[in-house]
Amino acid sequence: MNKKSGMENIHNPGTKPPAINLINKVTPYGPELNPLSAIRKYVYRLYDRSINILLDLYASGLLYVILTLLISAFTLFLTSYVIYSLREMRIEIRENKTLADTGEIRMVERHQETTSSDISAYHIQGFIMPLEGARIPDRSSLLPNARREYRNGTHEGIDFFVPYGTPVIAAKGGWVIHSDAEGYQEPDKGFRDMLLKTSSRLSDTPRDIENILLGRYVILDHGLINGQRVITVYAHLDSVDEDVTIGSYVKQGTLIGKVGNSGTSTAGTSEGAHLHFELRVNNTYLGKGLSTAAVKRMFSQILEDQGGDQVALMDKDSLQ
Ligand SMILES: [Zn+2]
Repeated sequence: MNKKSGMENIHNPGTKPPAINLINKVTPYGPELNPLSAIRKYVYRLYDRSINILLDLYASGLLYVILTLLISAFTLFLTSYVIYSLREMRIEIRENKTLADTGEIRMVERHQETTSSDISAYHIQGFIMPLEGARIPDRSSLLPNARREYRNGTHEGIDFFVPYGTPVIAAKGGWVIHSDAEGYQEPDKGFRDMLLKTSSRLSDTPRDIENILLGRYVILDHGLINGQRVITVYAHLDSVDEDVTIGSYVKQGTLIGKVGNSGTSTAGTSEGAHLHFELRVNNTYLGKGLSTAAVKRMFSQILEDQGGDQVALMDKDSLQ
């Protein structure tokens, strides 16, 4: 027995020559099949048969029917899916509207804020705007977390740009723990610039320098609100009301002073007047680490939505 006759034994003669050598070696008992080659051979046959079936279908016109059916089925599936999605979306919109109407969405948002930050609108209640009729500004540069390059620091409050002399009122009843009603002295420009230069070389503005930059300011202590200690800061004032003295109690809405530009680079002129207002909770500023949108929403909830007479009635402190 030679190699050639062995090869003829295992392949169908006549049809087509094998692409691969299916014989590993010839043993005294006959040719030995390579299992991998056998599989390949089987696959080729299957492929051949499939092509033949397709050709038959094509010839009989049945292929068109099958393709049409497949396309129809796919189109039907796609249409149903789109209709289903639209319906789901509509239900979701309706549900959200209902939640918004009943105030549940606001509760959910507040709850999320509670987890995304240590402090939140959820904890802080009973405040009004420190300026009558004012709105929370949109610009992020006027809100907490804004960068303050000139002192290499972070803005920790809201800047309300209003006309010089606009009355500033207590956002909530509280004890005066800092007041520049008397004895305030505007730092001269050279001194202020020196402090800023020092600050810009540091990673953050030191507290004592920050205090100078606040100009003429007032701090009210609102005690514990839902277990959180809350204070408010009113800065860059032109004047402080004479009754606002350390240790005195001011009711919500009481006049604290007038808007000015003390402590700022425009002090001594009538330019750049604004109220810098901070709401500090547990020794940090409200809104820390939150996005501009979240900060704005939070302050809007605290100072606008809950403001007004309704809250004043609920506010036990203001009854004193
Ligand atoms: Zn400011």
